[in-house]
Amino acid sequence: MIKQLIPQEYCLKCSGCCRFSEENSVWSPCLLDEEVVSFIDKPGLPAVSVSVDKRICLVANTKGQGFICPLLDIKDNKCRVYQERPFECQLYPFLICLRGKKVHLTVDLNCPYVKENLNSPQLKEYIKYLTDYLNQPKQRKLLLENPQILQAYEEVLDIMELDLTKE
Ligand code: SF4
Repeated sequence: MIKQLIPQEYCLKCSGCCRFSEENSVWSPCLLDEEVVSFIDKPGLPAVSVSVDKRICLVANTKGQGFICPLLDIKDNKCRVYQERPFECQLYPFLICLRGKKVHLTVDLNCPYVKENLNSPQLKEYIKYLTDYLNQPKQRKLLLENPQILQAYEEVLDIMELDLTKE
């Protein structure tokens, strides 16, 4: 599990995460190969479908507008698989982003905690932790073997380039 930065009280109040304005949103959770079977037909979980590009298929938000991840329990705003949520969800509000052929670590400025703490020592310390983590050979291999999670996100703040090929 990736160490978490955002205090729980921010996440529980936020109505951004796990909700999407479009059914085929680039922001919908994309799975690693090894995660694809993890959430399908699991007892106690809502039905989950995974698209050919390895995204969790979103469902209409019956309590509001747009679409939600089927694993979001909308009544208490909690992820039903929080302790074993996908790698991409663990990483958020950070995202691995494609810039042409380069791979960058970026952060979503729509996250209220990031917005409030952009220049804080906590955020700087966490970025150091995260870049050290992602630069481990095991994590670089994971990203290289799962190119589906490298997406061309827009409106995110570039933090640094990740060199996935270095030995
Ligand atoms: S798996 Fe959990 S954290 Fe990830 S989008 Fe779905 S509800 Fe949110």
